Amino acid sequence: MNPPFVDIHTHTAKSDDDLVQIVNLNLDQPRPEQGYYSYGIHPWEADKADFQMETALQHLEERLTNPNVLALGEAGLDKMHKANLEQQVELFERQIELSEALQNPMILHDVKSHNEIIALRKKHKAQQPWILHGFSGTEQDIKQLIGQGIYLSVGESLLHPEKKIYKSFKYIDLDHLFLETDMAKTGIETIYNEAAKLLGIDIVVLQKQIFANFARIFE
Ligand SMILES: [Zn+2]
Repeated sequence: MNPPFVDIHTHTAKSDDDLVQIVNLNLDQPRPEQGYYSYGIHPWEADKADFQMETALQHLEERLTNPNVLALGEAGLDKMHKANLEQQVELFERQIELSEALQNPMILHDVKSHNEIIALRKKHKAQQPWILHGFSGTEQDIKQLIGQGIYLSVGESLLHPEKKIYKSFKYIDLDHLFLETDMAKTGIETIYNEAAKLLGIDIVVLQKQIFANFARIFE
């Protein structure tokens, strides 16, 4: 039997025996009965007028104690967003501390912030796995991030030959790779097919590898 497809970051819950997914929920969304989830405080939240960091963090901590909530995320930094960067950093650091304390791997939102994210990983001596979602960088970015033990997850940008990830994708070590649908309507299988094609490997080999990565992190 082939291992299931893994969709490491999505906003749409599907029920399918051949699919393992981590569905991202907002803190105000209750957890459905089955499946795997992630809860986090997105860096854009820091910008909302009524945002209360302490209350949100408390709420997050409660959500993370549920065994079906596998990961903390999305959390991270976004330099293209108008949210104050210092506030984003504070929010991210608090979530790094929570991830380490509760032993929840993190799913990262990173826009133009690789260097800051790596520096914070070092500063906090973070041991939990981090998965950078929606990755679309260059060969150099790949080396830098994987060199720090960060996993990279690639989504439907792989279906667009004009994107730089289309060329750099082959440089991602298979044991640090995930695939995702995020907000896309495209099925995860389509993304796996394209990934296998670009890597010149059989899709079943890719399924086995990514499922092994998932098992290694989340046991
Ligand atoms: Zn997302």
